[in-house]
Amino acid sequence: MTVKLYWKDAYLKEFDSVVERVDGNIVVLRETAFYPTGGGVLNDTGTLTVNGTGCRVADVTKEGDTIFHHIEGVPQINAGDSAHGEIDWNRRYSLMRYHTAVHLMDGIVEKSYQNGGITGGTIFPDRARMDFAMENLNRELAQKIVDETNSAANEGHKVSSKMISRDEALSMPNLARTEPGRKLIESMPEVRVVEIEGIDVQSDGGLHVADTKEIGKLFLSKFENKGKHSKRIEITLGESK
Ligand SMILES: [Zn+2]
Repeated sequence: MTVKLYWKDAYLKEFDSVVERVDGNIVVLRETAFYPTGGGVLNDTGTLTVNGTGCRVADVTKEGDTIFHHIEGVPQINAGDSAHGEIDWNRRYSLMRYHTAVHLMDGIVEKSYQNGGITGGTIFPDRARMDFAMENLNRELAQKIVDETNSAANEGHKVSSKMISRDEALSMPNLARTEPGRKLIESMPEVRVVEIEGIDVQSDGGLHVADTKEIGKLFLSKFENKGKHSKRIEITLGESK
């Protein structure tokens, strides 16, 4: 099991660890601040320095509780070596800002518009998209939702995470918004939840900014009507505050 330093502190940019095993170009560490692709969010990238040599971490994946760092080239690394990791902070911070923006927007849709029905989403370092089942969603309404999300972001809501038991999670309605999310809760003894104070609580394994003010301004960059129950909103963010 890899200790997830990013869950303890999403703002951790560097860390020290020990190499547990190496398999070709894949390195497993005792602990890591590198976030693996998951929950609709892309992985971190960065540098892993071992024995004085910096290696590029090009991809990070997860299987069960183990996190795999995919190194560029063939690293001269052995189990037991000390390692120093440094994540590409600009990319990560962008992903965090987009991720919180998506939760905020989702919370607003759930609150204000019945049957908003988010069905999925993907978060990139330079944009995010969300899919909704909402039948009456059109470009005007999408812009209204973005405007409302901007107002809420500006209010400065605190964002926090905690672990709760599965029983508690199952007793909270609407904790998971998608069907795979609901299935996942049933399979886990403990569930991590992310709360945007006063606006949204949902089960989530991802990383967020600490305050919605950090999101900055959202822009509606694309609206697609892909069918009666399939609308896609894409947003981009301005500068962080
Ligand atoms: Zn999320």
